[in-house]
Amino acid sequence: MNNNSWEQLQAQDSRYIWHPYASATDIPEVFPVVAASGVRLELADGRELLDGMSSWWCAIHGYNHPALNRAVQEQLGRMSHVMFGGLTHPPAVKLARLLTEITPPGLQRVFFSDSGSVAVEVALKMAIQYWYSAGRPDKRKLVALRNGYHGDTFGAMSVCDPVTGMHHLFGDVLPAQYFVPAPESGFGEDCPEQELAAMTELLNTHHQEIAAVIVEPVVQGAGGMRFYSPGYLVQLRALCDAFDVLLIFDEIATGFGRTGKMFALEHAGVEPDILCLGKALTGGYMTLAATLCSERICIGISEGEAGAFMHGPTFMGNPLACATAIASIELLLSQPWQRNIQRLQQALELGLAPARELGQVAEVRCLGAIGVIELRQPVDLKQIQPLFVERGVWIRPFGKLVYAMPPFIMSDADVATLTDAMVYVVARL
Ligand SMILES: *Cc1c(COP(=O)(O)O)cnc(C)c1O
Repeated sequence: MNNNSWEQLQAQDSRYIWHPYASATDIPEVFPVVAASGVRLELADGRELLDGMSSWWCAIHGYNHPALNRAVQEQLGRMSHVMFGGLTHPPAVKLARLLTEITPPGLQRVFFSDSGSVAVEVALKMAIQYWYSAGRPDKRKLVALRNGYHGDTFGAMSVCDPVTGMHHLFGDVLPAQYFVPAPESGFGEDCPEQELAAMTELLNTHHQEIAAVIVEPVVQGAGGMRFYSPGYLVQLRALCDAFDVLLIFDEIATGFGRTGKMFALEHAGVEPDILCLGKALTGGYMTLAATLCSERICIGISEGEAGAFMHGPTFMGNPLACATAIASIELLLSQPWQRNIQRLQQALELGLAPARELGQVAEVRCLGAIGVIELRQPVDLKQIQPLFVERGVWIRPFGKLVYAMPPFIMSDADVATLTDAMVYVVARL
């Protein structure tokens, strides 16, 4: 048996590896992938899967893209990494400038880190250190929305939905934050003022101890794939200003075109004080994240007691990742990407529409290159995962959600194959 055979890989995997959100004793089946190209994953037994997940929102240009490969190879020939303390390099400088150009004008300073969760930690620390520097050390609590997801590290976890984030498990270790109900109005709807009643009440009563509100603008991702009214964000911005509370947008999932705008905040025309980016930043090639902030925050922290922002990951500003991110953003900007995302939204809507007729389906919704079937009951992953693989597609449901967010390069015919498989499998649950 060769070392890369299906059985060998599965056996060794279950012997040595722990997978995300999985048991290491009651081991769910994992599917060995040996290569990926365009919108297809090649399995170790030669089968191909059409990829509906973009590797968790990341691989927007598909796999093994010549332009991204070239960027990696060119940078590899120069250097793959140098420390960022006291040193800088062209990829970091160029990427930081590019990010300030494509994000709202008030965001002028970029702090690089390794992953989305760390970008959120950085954002929370920025907010707290900003108020400390301003002589208001009591402003250190955070406000988050129910159904929100911001990552798996402790600070990030403390602002995730307390139920899906399993806060009770971590008891007193997690800092206690404030939670308010998620917006109810849908994407295309107006947001009535009373939807912010709990938020208004909370900020009114506790603003003296609140540093910031953190939300995923327009799309709540891993906390339920919910799309909500951009009008909510307009009112939230005004509230934060009125109560002297900072506003943090977590666009780690939504950034770089996924919702039909470069950033989801553009649906609302609202600027945050701090913005977190990750996931699609390098086109899914490697791990990199960024936290952007306004000059006010940057100057406030820099001129405060510490005289510096107290964070510095070892792999901060990794040149290989920065070079790839530049190539990915330039590739996106070189195309009529808005029209392309509209095309994908239409293809997803068309393909998923038949699921609306199914009794087991609660709702079907699409926004940009995101298509969601929400079921009435949670799925059994062990049962459903092999069904998708048998149909030749890679869809990874969670809870009641069977959803797709394909690479932007997927053709209409491939989207139809993907959505047909989704409807077929859901109909058989
Ligand atoms: C995935 C995600 C994170 C965490 O990013 P990691 O790279 O997994 O640490 C944070 N916020 C949102 C909205 C995400 O979707």
